[in-house]
Amino acid sequence: MAEQKRADYASTRPQATGAWVASVEEGSPAWEAGIEPGMRVERVNGVVPRDLIDWRWEADGGTCELEVFDPRDGTTTPCELWREPGQDWGVDFTDVLFDGIRTCVNACQFCFMAMLPPEARATLTLRDDDYRLSFLQGNFVTLTNVSDEEAERIVTCGLSPMNVSIHAITPEVRRSLIGRHADRGIEVLERLLAGGVEVHAQIVLCPGINDGDELRATLDWVEARPGITSLAIVPLGYTKHSRRFKSSYSDDPEASRAVVRLLEPYQERARRTLGITRFQLSDEFYVDARLPVPPAETYDGYPQFYDGIGMLRSFLDETALVASERAGDLARIGATLAEKDLVAELVCGEAARETIDGLCALASPEGRLRTRAIRNDYFGGDVNVTGLIVSEDLLAQLPADLAGTLVVLPEVMFNFDRLTLDGDSQGRILEELRRRGALTAVSVPNPGDYLDALLAALDL
Ligand code: SF4
Repeated sequence: MAEQKRADYASTRPQATGAWVASVEEGSPAWEAGIEPGMRVERVNGVVPRDLIDWRWEADGGTCELEVFDPRDGTTTPCELWREPGQDWGVDFTDVLFDGIRTCVNACQFCFMAMLPPEARATLTLRDDDYRLSFLQGNFVTLTNVSDEEAERIVTCGLSPMNVSIHAITPEVRRSLIGRHADRGIEVLERLLAGGVEVHAQIVLCPGINDGDELRATLDWVEARPGITSLAIVPLGYTKHSRRFKSSYSDDPEASRAVVRLLEPYQERARRTLGITRFQLSDEFYVDARLPVPPAETYDGYPQFYDGIGMLRSFLDETALVASERAGDLARIGATLAEKDLVAELVCGEAARETIDGLCALASPEGRLRTRAIRNDYFGGDVNVTGLIVSEDLLAQLPADLAGTLVVLPEVMFNFDRLTLDGDSQGRILEELRRRGALTAVSVPNPGDYLDALLAALDL
């Protein structure tokens, strides 16, 4: 049977029962038991697994009994697996959720899904709000669709930490912001905290709605709940397709500074009493307020890095590290670009340009390594981050003649399947750039990886 590709995201397709096998490691307990890719594990110790959590919970010991369906002959066969202490079962599944994804019951005013271009791919418009993905993948969830049984499961199985969106604490403000199920989210959150679940929380801050006094009230509420170990505040983002929002903190430096100031006493108290900053602002607030980003030690080990908290600080610090530890590589890149009469362009969103410019100047003060910031016309509004660059804008804004240019694309503009948000593939884009005469590379957008990608592309 052909090996199916392993997914690191949840499937949206409703499944029958059980977990489809994606791959089996040779010589592993699953392999010894005759399990093959394409089969389906229907029961584990008599239980139909709903998701990876059930699988891990049930298959926790040294043995487990499975019922495995083989689509080739339509039979279901029992089998028993054994393993040595510390040994893996050696089986991966196609999805982390076996019974489909839970979608949200909210109607958030700031929902990005409601601001997408009409032609956006269907998978982009999926409004998932599944507590299991909060534990398994770090997605933020509102808990508004969690039943009592599910809340109990989170506590009993110790699904901790969870990432939870709070947004506001006053019931009327919450209801106006996220819809009529808002109260349920807080009820469930209180249960989880009482049950010892650690929570990383998030607020999407919308000017004039949940900032000011409402933000103060929310911060007071969080401060009184030590189980919430980090709180990230990110600004409302809007696109040109939003009917509700036409501006945000990106258009108002003073409003951004007010948020920075409002947070300071909470951060100071947390440092004094807990030794951590706990209350964090996303990088955009500092950029919008024209303030320097705080030092690394205030980010508490970056628990919400992928929510945009501390990425800038981390990039700046890694640039400084690269300057001192990889000076030889930087010099070789600069010299080779000059020798071969090439320029290298690091493609990024407009928000990242200034930060990445600092790295470029280290390798080539005469400008042979530079940024190519792509304006986001596809989403418009205040969207300017690297991860939301689309093919349409990239190809329209890069010159038709790219001879003598090494174009380095940021890996974050592609999803797991190497597709852009407007549905183009990495392979096709690279082909088009080469057709225009460019040398190409793809890199994770951080200093060390950029250097590795440049060295490889220049054959150094
Ligand atoms: S919970 Fe998320 S997906 Fe659902 S409406 Fe709110 S922002 Fe959109």
